Amino acid sequence: MSGVLSLARPEIVALKAYSHASWDPAFDRLHANELPWRAETDRSLAGLNRYPEPHPHELARRLAELYQVDAAQLLPGRGSDESIDLVVRGFCRAGIDNVIICPPTFGMYSVAARIQGAEVREVPLKRADYSLDTVGVLAACDANTRIVFLCSPNNPTGNAMDPVAVEQVLMALADKALVVVDEAYIEFSGDASLTRSLGRFPNLVILRTLSKAFGLAGARVGSLIAAPEIVALLAKVIPPYSIPQLTIEIVLATLAPPQLAVQRERVVQVRAERDRLRAALAGKSSLRKLWPSVTNFLLADFVDAEVALAAARNAKLLIRDMRGVSPHSLRISVGTPEQNDRLIRSLA
Ligand code: PMP
Repeated sequence: MSGVLSLARPEIVALKAYSHASWDPAFDRLHANELPWRAETDRSLAGLNRYPEPHPHELARRLAELYQVDAAQLLPGRGSDESIDLVVRGFCRAGIDNVIICPPTFGMYSVAARIQGAEVREVPLKRADYSLDTVGVLAACDANTRIVFLCSPNNPTGNAMDPVAVEQVLMALADKALVVVDEAYIEFSGDASLTRSLGRFPNLVILRTLSKAFGLAGARVGSLIAAPEIVALLAKVIPPYSIPQLTIEIVLATLAPPQLAVQRERVVQVRAERDRLRAALAGKSSLRKLWPSVTNFLLADFVDAEVALAAARNAKLLIRDMRGVSPHSLRISVGTPEQNDRLIRSLA
């Protein structure tokens, strides 16, 4: 076996995909043991009495168009959470392989790895500016490293990684390990996606999601974008019919041009509110440090994080306790102008 698939679990490479009922909307379906009538409450276009398309091609095509990649390079899943799980299950042998994460970062990389029985190696971001420790990452890799997870822009620190540093890691690990770059927040940064580098790096996997800038967190749709052989491999691991019909319908409607224009406008609004919130918080005596952010949240260090959390709760606002990351840190998502005003008023 050649190339990147030699890194995958051999039993997954050898796996025969589940054979689902054939899919042809031109025929009446007497082959899938469904009920022939809709539920009274069913307002869907296609009918929820029917299974959705096993691997929704139109959805994949539209997402590929959105992200400007080939449909064969994209696997839709139930949020990036599922994409993370799939890549770990496809590539890490339990009890043998390891993954690298760069804390503080999104918690699901290590959870998915531990569920799979993979070792998690931590190479912290540099303390001064939360930038990537390229040398440290490469030094932590060994022959059983299968995945390096990089999150850019990073949750919860809010900064983007230097694309040159990411490409150094990709290049050094070519044929050795996958580099998963999670771009969940990239729409808020305005930076170019690493999808432009897919052709140069067969070991690159990019994660995108509709949960943030597209306002569809409740619909659960993420995209794993990678070389077609990785997509084809992981398409065998994802269960058939995994994306619900209601989700397919709402996504196709949301990706129509008039709605896309609305979403782009919302991103502009979030960025303006982020800057307004930042300026207002910077003047607070309760604040020690505001970290730079290109996302829809701010990482803030408070003189007394407990007091700040309580003040926000009194104003009926939840903000995220990040004292596990650093002793004074809280993470604040940008809300509506009214919610942001309420937060600003609540803090001393
Ligand atoms: N990646 C990052 C960096 C995130 O912060 C989150 C959600 N907090 C996710 C992925 C999960 O996204 P999804 O809703 O697509 O599962």
